[in-house]
Amino acid sequence: MSNIKNKSESIKEHYGEETVQTTELTEQKDRLERIQSNGYNVVNCGSCGTVIIIELKDDLINCSNCNYESEHCDFPDFVY
Ligand SMILES: [Zn+2]
Repeated sequence: MSNIKNKSESIKEHYGEETVQTTELTEQKDRLERIQSNGYNVVNCGSCGTVIIIELKDDLINCSNCNYESEHCDFPDFVY
């Protein structure tokens, strides 16, 4: 019993009061919505799959990795 208590105390000491953010899908979506509400989006290139941060304005997107150029609809959201 005392061993368990000592162990949990040392863990608390190690992590201090730091909180942990997870990569749960619901949290990812929430963060992405906040990014989008600021006029940006995180998408994948529709051709090579590279992760790209784009501005949400009405222009074509050119992927500098594979040179694929198309409209926003051809670049799917990274989190969906
Ligand atoms: Zn590409």
